[in-house]
Amino acid sequence: MCIKCQTKDDFEDYKFSDKKGHIFTYTLDYLTPSRESPAVVGVVDFEGGGRVMCEVTECETSKIKIGMPVEMCFRKVGRKGGIHNYFWKAKPIS
Ligand SMILES: [Zn+2]
Repeated sequence: MCIKCQTKDDFEDYKFSDKKGHIFTYTLDYLTPSRESPAVVGVVDFEGGGRVMCEVTECETSKIKIGMPVEMCFRKVGRKGGIHNYFWKAKPIS
């Protein structure tokens, strides 16, 4: 929805939360503020198409690698103004 004129698009909803994917590329970010440093940020390609850049969680930094299979999970990203904030993260499929 447009934040200026409130026009609604006619796109169809598409759910990625139940799709599996793999790490296309990643970075270990030692500069960004993170709950656990370094922040592991990955680009995930989903089976069936689609790509997202997000944090990778539950993954030792020495274990992450390109092509690693991942799935999505909804996790806490921080707390600001007394409000807990959550967002999607990728985690390795065990
Ligand atoms: Zn508009």
